[in-house]
Amino acid sequence: MKLKYTTTRSNINQVTSSQAILNGLGDDGGLYLPINIPKISIDEINSMINLTYNQKAQIILSKYLTDFTQDELEYCINNAYNEKTFSSPKITPLHLLNDKCGVLELYHGPTSAFKDVALQILPYLLTTSAKKNGDKRTYVILVATSGDTGKAALEGFKDVPNTKILVFYPNDGVSLVQKLQMVTQLGENIKVVAVEGNFDDTQNGVKELFSNTDITKKLGNINHTFSSANSINWGRLVPQIVYYFESYVQLLNSGTIKIGEKINFTVPTGNFGNILAGYYAKEMGLPIKKLICAANANDVLKKFFDTGIYNRNREFVKTLSPSMDILISSNLERLLFLLSEGNKELITKLMLDLKNMGYYQIPEDIFKKLTTIFYSESADDIDTIKTIRDLYQKNNYLVDTHTAVAYKVYEKYQLKTNDNTFNVIVSTASPYKFNGAVAKAILSNYSKLDDIEQLKAINELTHSPIPEGLKNLDSKVVRFKDVISSNEMELTLKDYLKI
Ligand SMILES: *Cc1c(COP(=O)(O)O)cnc(C)c1O
Repeated sequence: MKLKYTTTRSNINQVTSSQAILNGLGDDGGLYLPINIPKISIDEINSMINLTYNQKAQIILSKYLTDFTQDELEYCINNAYNEKTFSSPKITPLHLLNDKCGVLELYHGPTSAFKDVALQILPYLLTTSAKKNGDKRTYVILVATSGDTGKAALEGFKDVPNTKILVFYPNDGVSLVQKLQMVTQLGENIKVVAVEGNFDDTQNGVKELFSNTDITKKLGNINHTFSSANSINWGRLVPQIVYYFESYVQLLNSGTIKIGEKINFTVPTGNFGNILAGYYAKEMGLPIKKLICAANANDVLKKFFDTGIYNRNREFVKTLSPSMDILISSNLERLLFLLSEGNKELITKLMLDLKNMGYYQIPEDIFKKLTTIFYSESADDIDTIKTIRDLYQKNNYLVDTHTAVAYKVYEKYQLKTNDNTFNVIVSTASPYKFNGAVAKAILSNYSKLDDIEQLKAINELTHSPIPEGLKNLDSKVVRFKDVISSNEMELTLKDYLKI
């Protein structure tokens, strides 16, 4: 039986999983999801004990991507997760802090952030989907990035047949490490360009390119089409379900928990993709008690989980955990769809309220369901620095700023509830990726050091290895030097594609 996909907003034609991945966003503006959630039994989970990450991924993905053959899935999975792309043989290893808490490290991919787990496989899912549907076009991935996504997308799409990728980043809007990561990127099918101004200018420019009919026509003439790599694509969400199972099985393997025992996850949240994957795992049958949603000073989600009102009419705060600095969490739309049992009229109305008024309120019964499963707290920058320092000094364990927010939120949750359930902190970035704040937390002379010196000093103090992709960044060849103004983006694209 093939699992069908629908969108959160209307009853347009149902599609297959490969079509959902190719389409990205529904024509009605809604997000694709499967019409029901596949189940997994406790026995099936128990039988994963001796399987590799890739074998587990095969089991989980084949339940969702039902129009892919087993061979196609294996091809996608093995190209995404291997010893060349991930520095840990477990792909997402779990580090035990004590007998009640572990840290699931999702940052061992090529760019040292958790987005690699999805963006290493997305290009293969996309190109396989195209092939299955007889689509022979070349996919042009356009990205506007404020840092992490651009690099992860470049690493994912580099040299993938039938794709080209063009990344624009704001010249003043990314850290030195992030910039060096992008401008030294290898691959024949890529281009990276700095745009004068801030992230909004870059993002608006990319949006205009997407909707420029002259360009889409010219692309059509050379058998090319646009696509995007952002987190509303089902092909980015579904690979994230796997590591919730992976962590559970690692805990079984180490004897930390017994089969069937429920555990909690605390997830540093921005666009709500990661934690939503956890909800899918729970609904499939993974024994999860609570999903704890960690927010930083941009605590829109915490307020939503407290009141049932989602309100984006507020100040945007720049924090030390920038990947969580977000006022609209797009993937929440999928959760509301699931909790309302597919009430599309309701979802359409809520999203319209958000667009027109900047806020919406969910009905009481949905709010009740929400709060039996989810809990949310926030932690600010002072908490963040202090938590990095404490974890390093007390546990000899180094975390990045996003993971520190999650750890602090877990502590607050425990204080408030006395819930002693085993907790997994989902760790989304290497501490070396957010070197400035980590240096401030643990080095006395941090302010005298530039970014590259900070990496070396953190390494000398902690002996925690610098990830391969961040090593010797200052001595790599800079391939991309163009800095353009935002009104030159169209010309740059046409030049690159020779249209
Ligand atoms: C993207 C990102 C997040 C937020 O994840 P969502 O799936 O958007 O909630 C958290 N931490 C880091 C380091 C990220 O790059």
